[in-house]
Amino acid sequence: MEEYVKRLPLALVVMSLGFAQSPFLEQKSTAVASIDAHAQELARLSDQVWAHAETAFRETRSSEALASYAAAQGFRVRRGIAEMPTAFIAEYGRGSPVIGVLGEYDALPGISQKAEPVKAPLEPGAGGHGCGHNLLGVGALGAAVAIKEQMAAGKIAGMIRFYGTPAEEMGGGKLYMVRAGLFTDVDIILSWHPGDENNADTQSSQAMVDFIVEFQGKTAHAAFDPWNGRSAVDGLEIFTQSLNYLREHVKPTVRMHYTIVDGGKVPNVVPDYAKLWCWVRDSDRTGVEDVMRRVRKIVEGSALSADVEAKLTVQIGYYNMLVNMAGQRLLFANLQWLGPLKFTAAEQEFARQIQKATGTEPAGLDEAIKPFLENPGPPEGGSTDVADVSWNVPTLQLTTTTAPKAAPWHAWPVVACGGMSIGHKGMTYAAKVLASTMVDLLNDPAKRAEIRKEFAEKVAGKPYQGYVPDGPPPIPKR
Ligand SMILES: [Zn+2]
Repeated sequence: MEEYVKRLPLALVVMSLGFAQSPFLEQKSTAVASIDAHAQELARLSDQVWAHAETAFRETRSSEALASYAAAQGFRVRRGIAEMPTAFIAEYGRGSPVIGVLGEYDALPGISQKAEPVKAPLEPGAGGHGCGHNLLGVGALGAAVAIKEQMAAGKIAGMIRFYGTPAEEMGGGKLYMVRAGLFTDVDIILSWHPGDENNADTQSSQAMVDFIVEFQGKTAHAAFDPWNGRSAVDGLEIFTQSLNYLREHVKPTVRMHYTIVDGGKVPNVVPDYAKLWCWVRDSDRTGVEDVMRRVRKIVEGSALSADVEAKLTVQIGYYNMLVNMAGQRLLFANLQWLGPLKFTAAEQEFARQIQKATGTEPAGLDEAIKPFLENPGPPEGGSTDVADVSWNVPTLQLTTTTAPKAAPWHAWPVVACGGMSIGHKGMTYAAKVLASTMVDLLNDPAKRAEIRKEFAEKVAGKPYQGYVPDGPPPIPKR
């Protein structure tokens, strides 16, 4: 409540400058106050998920923590949807419009870390929230709860829906939810991600495809009768060499990376099996498809050369993010209405200690709101399954500061900040921007129409074809 009272004069200053004129002020202020009132509860919930640090498809306790919190807040909860035990939907209200928000909660393996500014595993070898998804899921749910409270009070009509989406880091849980038709009746989706800046980002993400290449040859003694053998590793080596030649003849936006999963066992046996794990990325789906057509030829060619069999299996692939400029402008207006994020001197010092420990510039935490980019250029490196949702429903994407500027991501600094007040603040701030934007979307049919029109124009003639394999999601056995 204290923050809310302090914020009002700022909102007035911003408005008097002639930009970020925010409609539905009373409802937004009520939503912000509601998030402040729940802030400690949300921080506790986030800390629970942070401590569980469960990896893709194994987020049993994390998803249950979020689902039971939603149920306790009065949401209708459906667990275990789209053939994934850790996926759920929580919704409140009825009728139209339906506004959705995405929440993730999977951790990364092997990067356990205490909430301290030096590298110190909490449990050596265990997982850690190096992408801040403990904050992501809870922040998104916090925004939905703030809206639900005003729906319950009869102040806002329509439906708010939280998507509990597992396995973002590995497995692409959202693709299976798209395949199950869970996004067909929703008008607009909101999403956010922890980061090192506050940004209604207009930059897309890379499209990618994740695939396995296997070679099957014929074994023989490597000295006694090698002429009887056909080496699978020969096939593998010709493949990687050809792939590396291909690098000269692709666009600068293309990225190709691989690891050798099985390259034979001992030198004195002609190996009859070899396996690679590869990713191809580009700025959009078409670019990835162009490279993949050539990769398939290289697979065939290397198998011919080595006289072995080869097989390419797509595991999963993500689209590039379909950026909705009208939606991003709305997020930006709400960021401006809220004003910059504020950290304490102690939090800035915590961040600088991390920056010193990781050899990055000791710039601390970025509190400012990044300027809105109308022409952001090609995406930076990285892919997300949120992008697949964005090709099915207009999707708005926000980033807030939860970690030190330029500190390594998917690494201990992000885990450390996500388990203390820096992460909590970035999360609460994100919840407020999302909730304020939800107020606009639920109240303003013209704004919804503008966003949906832009979406319809951008997807016209480009039917969505997800890189999702047939059959059930790849849930690991316990
Ligand atoms: Zn992430």
